[in-house]
Amino acid sequence: MREFIPVTNLNNGLPTYETILNRDFTTPKGAKSCVTLTDNGVCAMVGGREINRFMHTPRIYVDNAATSPMPEAVLQAMMPYLGVSFGNPSSTHSYGQEAQQALETARKRIAQAIGAYNNEIYFTSGGTEADNWIVHSVSKQQAKKGKHLISTKIEHNAMLRPLENLQADGFEITLLEPDRFGMITPEQLTQAIREDTLLVSIMSANNVVGTVLPIQALCAAAHKRNVLFHTDAVQAVGHIRLDVHALGVDFLSISAHKFHGPKGVGALFSKLGLPVTPLIAGGGQEKGRRSGTENVASLVGMAAALEASVTDLDAHLQSIARLRDKLIAGILKIPGAHLTGDPVHRLPGLASFLFEQVPGQLLIPELDKIGICASSGAACSAASKDASHVLLAMGYPPALAHGALRLSLSRYNTEAEIDVILEALPNIVRSVRQKQSV
Ligand code: PLP
Repeated sequence: MREFIPVTNLNNGLPTYETILNRDFTTPKGAKSCVTLTDNGVCAMVGGREINRFMHTPRIYVDNAATSPMPEAVLQAMMPYLGVSFGNPSSTHSYGQEAQQALETARKRIAQAIGAYNNEIYFTSGGTEADNWIVHSVSKQQAKKGKHLISTKIEHNAMLRPLENLQADGFEITLLEPDRFGMITPEQLTQAIREDTLLVSIMSANNVVGTVLPIQALCAAAHKRNVLFHTDAVQAVGHIRLDVHALGVDFLSISAHKFHGPKGVGALFSKLGLPVTPLIAGGGQEKGRRSGTENVASLVGMAAALEASVTDLDAHLQSIARLRDKLIAGILKIPGAHLTGDPVHRLPGLASFLFEQVPGQLLIPELDKIGICASSGAACSAASKDASHVLLAMGYPPALAHGALRLSLSRYNTEAEIDVILEALPNIVRSVRQKQSV
């Protein structure tokens, strides 16, 4: 049985944090699994995970695929570049040099974390820009070869929307159909490639259902026909082992806030020797490929976060996957619950479900009321009443696809939190169903 310790003023900021922290450290044996209840019924896990000024929350956060909390070490790495080392990396004086050096160190650390060379990394404002950039670049660079691009029906809108824009400009887009598990095969891709195909873009891991795609084999199939290959690895980098040269990809998109880095920064990996046409023109930063004064502090934060994520990755993967599997086993006991995504090839921290006769958007506020922050799918479409295009593409009927619940874990989640979710969810599903049937 868990221990319940009443604490007041849990929502009052720093003093509250001190209260939680003190309890965490002073509570004798058993504190690791204690649950703290506030007057208003919000619960907080205080044991067994890193709690600090910036990450502390009286809530259970299981929406890490939307964005993930920054640990204190990342924030501390960024602080000098928000303060004393405020220089513009393009300035030639010592402030500028300091910033430039920080930027190049960040580039090196990011490159190392994904097996790239330093000069294969271009900084961007995030995954969306990196995806848009590569669509723009290849369509301009390769225009003489043809006007056909291949992607999939399960991509993030950061890829689908720019492809739609190209279509309006007369390009032809083939979107491959996933199977029921969100999987795309090299054979499917091979069949779709044409003489005039410029680019294949297939995501490394799906953000809605967590399926991990066979990027190495898909890339090999594209290269066999001399077609460039891009992967949106926003949900994969920092979550699974990944080496760009082993995968063989030509281009890859990264976003810092998915691996405990800051929001609004990311990178495009572009294999050495491949030309990239700028999407953003201006002062000529990033060797003329991506203009705009660099967000030094956040890029330093991205490097720190990525390095931390890939260090001890295997050990973290195992413990996160264990929590995910416990969640899956527990949730599948709820009548009418279905797991979506590939049962084997899936992200260690992502479990996505459909509940018959339960609109997913109704579960989210109910969970939120008791301090569990989850999602019904992609964060950018979380408020939408439409069923996820990913689930529809996987063949789920709209009525069932509406009942999606995505729980995405990180290394900062604890087993005690999983227990709370498993205790709460069956009742919430039951009560939402009852309300629906009235
Ligand atoms: N691609 C995928 C697969 C994503 O999940 C996301 C964000 O959720 C993006 C791209 C967009 O990344 P960003 O938020 O950095 O623009």
